[in-house]
Amino acid sequence: MNTGYDLAIVGAGIIGLSHAYAAAKRGLKVAVFERTHTPLGASVRNFGQALIIGQSPGEMLQLAKQSRTIWGELATQAKFSVKKKGTLLFARTEAEENLLEAFCNGRAKEYDYRAELLSRAELAGLYDGRFVHHRAALHGLEDQQIYSREAIPSLVSYLDSFENVSFYFSTLVRDIDPDAGKLITTAGQFAAEHILVCSGHDYQTLLAEQISQLEPEVCRLQMLRVTPEQSFDLQHAVLTGLSCIHYNAFADLPEAQSVREQVQQHSPLLEKYGIHLLASPTPYGDIIIGDSHDYQQDPIPFNSEEVDQLLIELAQHTLNTKVKVKERWQGIYGSRGKEPISVLQAHPKVTAVLMRTGLGMSVGPALGERTIAALLNESRPAIAVGS
Ligand SMILES: Cc1cc2nc3c(=O)[nH]c(=O)nc-3n(C[C@H](O)[C@H](O)[C@H](O)COP(=O)(O)OP(=O)(O)OC[C@H]3O[C@@H](n4cnc5c(N)ncnc54)[C@H](O)[C@@H]3O)c2cc1C
Repeated sequence: MNTGYDLAIVGAGIIGLSHAYAAAKRGLKVAVFERTHTPLGASVRNFGQALIIGQSPGEMLQLAKQSRTIWGELATQAKFSVKKKGTLLFARTEAEENLLEAFCNGRAKEYDYRAELLSRAELAGLYDGRFVHHRAALHGLEDQQIYSREAIPSLVSYLDSFENVSFYFSTLVRDIDPDAGKLITTAGQFAAEHILVCSGHDYQTLLAEQISQLEPEVCRLQMLRVTPEQSFDLQHAVLTGLSCIHYNAFADLPEAQSVREQVQQHSPLLEKYGIHLLASPTPYGDIIIGDSHDYQQDPIPFNSEEVDQLLIELAQHTLNTKVKVKERWQGIYGSRGKEPISVLQAHPKVTAVLMRTGLGMSVGPALGERTIAALLNESRPAIAVGS
């Protein structure tokens, strides 16, 4: 039996690593268990957009703002690159432009979203006028772009350099004995004062009965990495007005209804597949594109070529260049909770922290900070958005 840990964390995705960082900084002795040899879950398959602009006003917005600061700290210490130019969310239609205007004039000011509306004339001065075919753009000034497949391993290496943090990779946690604070793993038994389950969308290996009460579902996304035919040095994360009917910062504004109706009338396939375009620049000139949404109890393994083609068409129009596909993959995240985050107190010594929406990169670092502060009775209850 390996004993003496203050905290055992199951899962080395962004949620597990964020909690490990918050605990390690406070001097706790931490063990992190990950069943694969390196993190391969949602946290390396995503767009890496650390978004403030799309968050619902309230707790999620606050978490995203706090996470922005922590990402800055982590990038410096763990030495991974972060693009800090923000997002460009393009209005392609009058309805989308009206929605962005309404957001800028109202909610953005009220809740301090830090965004500006760029006119078509202002777009002409960006990227040699590449984007002047759009009517306007919302520039989210505080959004950041992370290249997850490099940042997450860098974060692991950085945390591994702490004397008080131990990683156990290729180690499945098979079971937990909560009364004894014991983890039964494929690398033997371990004991800790507290166990945090940050197992992403694996709802069956640990705490299956308690997690099933949350009626968990997963969302499956088709993702592509493409090279623009006319190469240009994209520094912003890119979205379109389509995202406004998906993201809670905008979706309930009255002006969103016309955007929704236009999609229903003119692009029903986008609605069918839950598609809104996200495009994220990598440090190497490629662009990650995607954001289809297929909600299921279990993810189906079959990718639809129709979805990929729709994404490619949207990307080509938005970026104003043909693109060549270099890579395709699936990403899966936990979704459709009553709340965006579920914090499940399964036992006094066992807490599960589960993202229930696709925003873990945006809010994960602050979520770790808050859970650990609450466990140590430093502050108010961990988080108000959990169930
Ligand atoms: C395609 C895609 C795009 C996305 N884009 C964005 C974005 O741009 N911005 C944003 O904010 N969010 C985005 N998200 C959401 C974000 O990636 C997730 O919310 C976040 O990664 C969830 O982190 P996690 O640590 O909970 O899960 P994961 O990264 O899946 O990590 C969970 C880990 O736990 C391990 N594990 C589970 N059970 C056990 C066990 N019993 N023993 C040992 N190990 C175990 C798994 O192997 C896994 O590595 C996206 C998600 C996807 C899928």
